[in-house]
Amino acid sequence: MEKILVTQPFLPPLEEVEPYLKQIWENKWLTNKGPFHQELEQKLADYLDVEYISLFSNGTLALLIALKALNIKGEVITTPYTFVATSHTLLWNNLTPVFADVDPVYGNLDPEAVENAITPNTTAILPVHVYGNPCDVKGLQEVADKHNLKIIYDAAHAFGVKVNEKSIMQYGDLSVMSFHATKLFNTFEGGAIACHTEEMKTKIDHLKNFGFDGETTIIGTGINAKMNEFSAVMGLLQLNHFKEILHKRQTIAERYRKNLKGISGLRFLYEMAGVDHNNAYFPVFLEKNYPLDRDTLYQKLKDQNIYGRRYFYPLISWLDSYQNRPSSHASNLPEAEKLASQVICLPIYPDLDLEIVDFVCDIIASHTNR
Ligand SMILES: *Cc1c(COP(=O)(O)O)cnc(C)c1O
Repeated sequence: MEKILVTQPFLPPLEEVEPYLKQIWENKWLTNKGPFHQELEQKLADYLDVEYISLFSNGTLALLIALKALNIKGEVITTPYTFVATSHTLLWNNLTPVFADVDPVYGNLDPEAVENAITPNTTAILPVHVYGNPCDVKGLQEVADKHNLKIIYDAAHAFGVKVNEKSIMQYGDLSVMSFHATKLFNTFEGGAIACHTEEMKTKIDHLKNFGFDGETTIIGTGINAKMNEFSAVMGLLQLNHFKEILHKRQTIAERYRKNLKGISGLRFLYEMAGVDHNNAYFPVFLEKNYPLDRDTLYQKLKDQNIYGRRYFYPLISWLDSYQNRPSSHASNLPEAEKLASQVICLPIYPDLDLEIVDFVCDIIASHTNR
């Protein structure tokens, strides 16, 4: 059997790409706010139901600029249960990451833990909608309002998610997306920031283009983080297929849930009430009464050519640049520590055959007596 990876990028049919390439060759406008860049910003703002979108060359640079655009200083409270880029962007901005624990079910930052981590130096919260499951957006906003903090959501996993019919990108001061090849909406490499005012959009647009405001004026220490025209085309084509992408992912997630139900010691995530999910990932958690430990099952799946991923292990708080901080101590992060030791993300992507899903589930069930 061929290798089955945790994800496979959705690619639009090649014949849909060709006319756009011709157009780019005719325009000779490859980057710097080209026509496809402008079109994608508008279409994404409409699709995601937000006022403004600014496109980026990747999600990490978008996070970097989001923190700069809000002029964040001092300490930022964030989660250790995420991809390293989240807190790396704090270090790149000379900010101090302070880790707070996550909720034991979905693994999102816990508002109460956030509140307990606040000091006079805290200026912002950087939560992640892990696996695309919405954070407690109301709880976090209450904490932020009470203590006058900004919220920047790392929404890298959350493209297309809605909470009570409202786009998840409407929450917080800014939301940052990744369109990396491994994400459910991809532009090869890419990213975006959703924001609420024209003033903020302009500031972000300047910062992603070296700080240029016009031909000779430079506001602030900008960087080069612009999306190119080819990536913008990929976004436009992907958007046309996005309904079908979501539908296929939904079908696969339902099959996993049906197959894995009743396996003792194995926990998976149910849909949240009032949420339109994107099924970006399908994590399972091996609890004490599952007969194998996580790494053993991970290896057994690999032996059968099923390459799951241990997202998110190791925790960021275990890494060299982070581990000596007081908030990184395991006793401060018991739920995150537990999830990191239990999780495997199973393959999920639009073209994954349901027979493969059944095969994966059979391997997982074969070690138990159900
Ligand atoms: C992928 C990802 C990023 C980084 O995005 P890139 O586009 O790869 O730079 C940031 N945060 C999270 C949670 C991610 O999963």
